[in-house]
Amino acid sequence: MSRMNLAALSAVLLFAVGGTAEAKQWRYAGMHPRTGQPADGLCHIEAMHVHTAAPLYADTLYRTRDNVHIFIGDPTPFGYEGPRHAYYGHHPVVLNVIIHIDVDVDEVEYCHHDGPHYHAYEPPPRQRFVEKEDVSYYAGEYPEEYQRENPKLVRVNSVYRNWSSPRPVVTVAPPPEYHGPVIQVGFKVPVPRVEVSVPGVEVRVGAPPPPPQREVVIIREERVVHEHHHDDHCGHGHKKHKKHKHKKFKDRD
Ligand SMILES: [Zn+2]
Ligand SMILES: [Zn+2]
Ligand SMILES: [Zn+2]
Repeated sequence: MSRMNLAALSAVLLFAVGGTAEAKQWRYAGMHPRTGQPADGLCHIEAMHVHTAAPLYADTLYRTRDNVHIFIGDPTPFGYEGPRHAYYGHHPVVLNVIIHIDVDVDEVEYCHHDGPHYHAYEPPPRQRFVEKEDVSYYAGEYPEEYQRENPKLVRVNSVYRNWSSPRPVVTVAPPPEYHGPVIQVGFKVPVPRVEVSVPGVEVRVGAPPPPPQREVVIIREERVVHEHHHDDHCGHGHKKHKKHKHKKFKDRD
């Protein structure tokens, strides 16, 4: 078949696919971004279900099993307001735990989020984590498979760089048990700086270094800490999990 004919055939096939009444369906399990655009929020259906919308950033934000897409990323940019857990750096994620199914062998994948971030799920059982100031750090070794996939999956950070969302505030160095990358993450949401002028002193944005009469007030993120028992509202039945704190940002309540 000549080149031209092949092109024509492709066009016909494309037309045929586009014209069918049955739209392609994508399988999902567990909470996931509705469209991938932060403003469109999250779909909270836990059980396996289908959408006609393809997952956006499927290669970095999701992991798949039998064509079922499971979102493993930080849900914060999508307006997530449920209980969340603070992590630092790369760590294992157990898919069967996220979607609450029982299997004999854990389906382990790795989260490649650099620096502090949140997940709706807590550190998975049967994996070693160390907690420091309410932030979880993976304390195990990274397998070869993680190393192999890292160049591709670490691009999740480029995706999140476009979205502004609060991250856990980490002011201490990772514990020695953590062997993952320690990367300074460029915050899209800086600590708000409010310049307060002393009466009579003009304040201009972009002005040269402040004269001594001016005062710079740093407004820190105000956080409300509450504790909960997991059976109350966490929704993921983890029995041997001791009590821990969940943080919520006041402005999101
Ligand atoms: Zn859904
Ligand atoms: Zn993570
Ligand atoms: Zn929890």
